[in-house]
Amino acid sequence: MREAKIKGIDKSYPVGKIVCLGRNYLDHIRELGNKVPDRAVIFCKPASSLLPDGGQIILPDYTNDCHHELELAVLIGTAGKNISEELAMQHVAGYGVALDLTLRDLQSELKEKGLPWEIAKGFDTSCPLSDFVPADQVDNPNAIRLTLKVNGELRQDGTTAQMMRNVEEIIAEISQYYTLEPGDIILTGTPAGVSRIQSGDQLYGEIENVGTLQVTVA
Ligand code: ZN
Repeated sequence: MREAKIKGIDKSYPVGKIVCLGRNYLDHIRELGNKVPDRAVIFCKPASSLLPDGGQIILPDYTNDCHHELELAVLIGTAGKNISEELAMQHVAGYGVALDLTLRDLQSELKEKGLPWEIAKGFDTSCPLSDFVPADQVDNPNAIRLTLKVNGELRQDGTTAQMMRNVEEIIAEISQYYTLEPGDIILTGTPAGVSRIQSGDQLYGEIENVGTLQVTVA
């Protein structure tokens, strides 16, 4: 899947870059023992990491510790550079449910060495993603509940109101570094409750007013 589809209006965008925020929820920063960043922690996942709703996660053989991170996804519909917070929402085409799967063991090893940890985040199937709902169907993306169940058990339960940077601030900051283009997708960080997934697990993510995402681990 390389297309971001918007439900109901029969519109889709070829996926461009997938820009992700790390450390955007204080309780998740604390659970990993990280520091609160002054500048947003930003990394990218390649479009080849996408997995459609209903798909199967393939765990790489070089990891023993893959974590789920449930995140609100923001689809960019209009290009912009140095976008102001005031105008940021005009660039949003829709919202979706995403997982930022993370090889925590590999990420920790690379972090300790001070090396980039993108390969811990960008492997094939590391970005399960739902279709998007049109932006105007979500009144306030900065105050919606996100939950993730694994095999029916609640693991993550947060609200985007806990984000340290809200959607407008995230778009403004990222667009200082990268031109945002139609089809780009932003993953806005994860609340606490990340944990290891293993073969056979069924993951069910839900974001209020946005939708659901269901994937299994092969
Ligand atoms: Zn994440």
